[in-house]
Amino acid sequence: MSEVKEYTRDRLTVIWDAAKCTHSGRCVRGLPTVFNLQQRPWIQLDKATIEETMAQVDRCPSGALSYRLGADISEESSI
Ligand code: SF4
Repeated sequence: MSEVKEYTRDRLTVIWDAAKCTHSGRCVRGLPTVFNLQQRPWIQLDKATIEETMAQVDRCPSGALSYRLGADISEESSI
């Protein structure tokens, strides 16, 4: 049984495929604010810029991490 999780922030969605993950730890070392096993969910996209997160996703050696960019559907908050 494979587990695929998606995490979305604004127009960025990061997909993590547990079956492909080799637990190299490259993501948690490279961008620990976003990829942190001590937090739930372990991927928190609001902790870095979209560009930083995409660059780290591209460094995943196994292909477990991927992303897609969609239209910006975020709602402007007036707070
Ligand atoms: S970099 Fe990729 S393979 Fe390594 S722990 Fe993160 S998700 Fe898994």
